[in-house]
Amino acid sequence: MFILCTNDDGYLAGGLQVLARAARTLGEVRVVAPDREQSATSHSLTMHFPLRSRRVGDDTHQVDGTPTDCVALALGALLERRPDFVLSGVNHGPNMGEDVLYSGTVAAAMEATILGVPAVAISYTGREPERIAEYEPVLAHLLQQLLNPERFPAETLFSINLPPVSPSELRGVQVTRLARRVYFDSITRAHDPSGREYFWIGGGGVEWTAPEGTDYRAVQDGYVSVTPLHLDLTNHALLADVRAWELRL
Ligand code: MN
Repeated sequence: MFILCTNDDGYLAGGLQVLARAARTLGEVRVVAPDREQSATSHSLTMHFPLRSRRVGDDTHQVDGTPTDCVALALGALLERRPDFVLSGVNHGPNMGEDVLYSGTVAAAMEATILGVPAVAISYTGREPERIAEYEPVLAHLLQQLLNPERFPAETLFSINLPPVSPSELRGVQVTRLARRVYFDSITRAHDPSGREYFWIGGGGVEWTAPEGTDYRAVQDGYVSVTPLHLDLTNHALLADVRAWELRL
């Protein structure tokens, strides 16, 4: 098995090293990852600047672009052959609910899916990224089961969230749907030293709607959450209703 690993926290991030070690138990690994933190860059593609890649070590390239750039460059130019799977993570932070739409980690897996390579995104929901290393054996075992070319679903990626507990306290694995979350007070308005107003997005609070069967609930309850995601955003259930509006030109 030939596996590409990437992430959005940069090629030096501890979570990526853990992921690459887990992946090496399953096959041959290449790492192509951003040269710096690219969290919350979503599915951004760099088109107005050149991109440069630098080899750092035998099986690793760093790229001065986004996670999506890394996957596009790896598959289109840097790798000697097409990978069987793309793994993205382990992100230093959660990617649940609507956050999958902002996540660079999940976007890298989405890009692989668009390019026809099955992919898995992995995120750690705890606050201490140095503890991700404890998850290496759990991750290797889980990936061994997921990376099965015979049953890996088409046009689908998996998003895994690891709960904020040590692996010895894990209660199991749950296959989940996305929860819903609302941020509040997340825009700060202030003034810079010259007196000009500025805004800063981030911080504030977050409220979850997370019934049984959702990703957020699963990790709260001490389970590893595995969510199958597909890229078709069409609201299929609504098609007939909206067609009945008989929109005309
Ligand atoms: Mn990140």
